Amino acid sequence: MPDIMDICELSPAYVRAIAPYQPGKPITELAREFGLDERTIVKLASNENPRGLSPKALAAIEAALPDLARYPDGFDLSQALSRRLGVPMEQIVLGNGSNDVLELAGMAFLAPGCSAVYSQHAFAVYPLATQARGAQGIVVPAKNFGHDLEAMLAAIRPDTHVVFIANPNNPTGTMLSAAELESFLRRAPRHVVVVVDEAYNEYLDPALRCPSIAWVGRFPNLIVTRTFSKVYGLAGLRVGYGVCRPELADLLNRVRQPFNVNNLAIAAAVAALTDEDFVRESYELNVAGMTQLREGCQRLGLAWIPSYGNFLTVEIPRSIGDDAGQSQAGAVFQKLLRLGVIVRPLAGYGLPDHLRVTIGLAPENARFLEALDAALKG
Ligand SMILES: *Cc1c(COP(=O)(O)O)cnc(C)c1O
Repeated sequence: MPDIMDICELSPAYVRAIAPYQPGKPITELAREFGLDERTIVKLASNENPRGLSPKALAAIEAALPDLARYPDGFDLSQALSRRLGVPMEQIVLGNGSNDVLELAGMAFLAPGCSAVYSQHAFAVYPLATQARGAQGIVVPAKNFGHDLEAMLAAIRPDTHVVFIANPNNPTGTMLSAAELESFLRRAPRHVVVVVDEAYNEYLDPALRCPSIAWVGRFPNLIVTRTFSKVYGLAGLRVGYGVCRPELADLLNRVRQPFNVNNLAIAAAVAALTDEDFVRESYELNVAGMTQLREGCQRLGLAWIPSYGNFLTVEIPRSIGDDAGQSQAGAVFQKLLRLGVIVRPLAGYGLPDHLRVTIGLAPENARFLEALDAALKG
């Protein structure tokens, strides 16, 4: 019998080198760890919609339950998206979350010997999708915590097949203007697929949104990805999509699992698209919560990165006194946990002095600020 370690060594070195994704701590786990009552825990760690999901989506899920014995058919969702976005169905690729679409882009365009370009402090799935294919990741230093598009353009090599851009970016919340992004798309070499990840698009002030879907008609190398996990409140169902030229969509669909989006997710997403009130109310709640958090952080004397998403990334000052200069964010994160508040530490994103907090309901934000105050005091 071969040793288990020998078996693992059959896996390519680039797979074994992948750093595991660090999800936000689940409520149930924290409750077990510290003996806390789950109902008292506030989770502001994964940029989920604090209002939950649309009642219309929930009703659609209930109505779809009897059909679970059947394999899913994405037609209705592709059609609904096609109508909503004004693009033919052939230009839409459904994903098991938009992460799935990011991975499909990696599967379709990356291999050993290729490279992908992405920014420092950008979304963690870009390195994952790159490394899983044995391609090399080219990490471009961030500028003011955001994408430095000029430097990213300059970093593109002849072997670069994909550029990943998050707009707005997670975990920094930074945003590129339509003019900046369009200029990048105009100048990017045609041999490079540009993936523009718009997971937080619906949280942007409409005046700031990019005409990215229209750009798909102009830039044959563009893939725009969006998700139902954020403003639509369907993170647990896993559904997102990509929009690109039919030729690219055809490639992504070849590497896509035929039934990657499940029946309930399809039904919920179709219904969620019709609930414009829910989306508007979620947007408005986010605007108010962003103000609440910023004002609270200001009162606590903390700095933050201006954010265009449903989260705020706050800088935790380094210690003073005996252990001067030590990062405190990890300790503050742990203290918040003990107080029943889950946020996201960002050391894994190269931001050891920052914590990311998702904008919650007003009382959740207040509870976070109160706990943060206590944690900073000792
Ligand atoms: C949350 C998020 C996603 C969406 O992930 P899903 O797989 O759709 O849940 C994609 N990109 C970024 C930058 C995100 O923050």
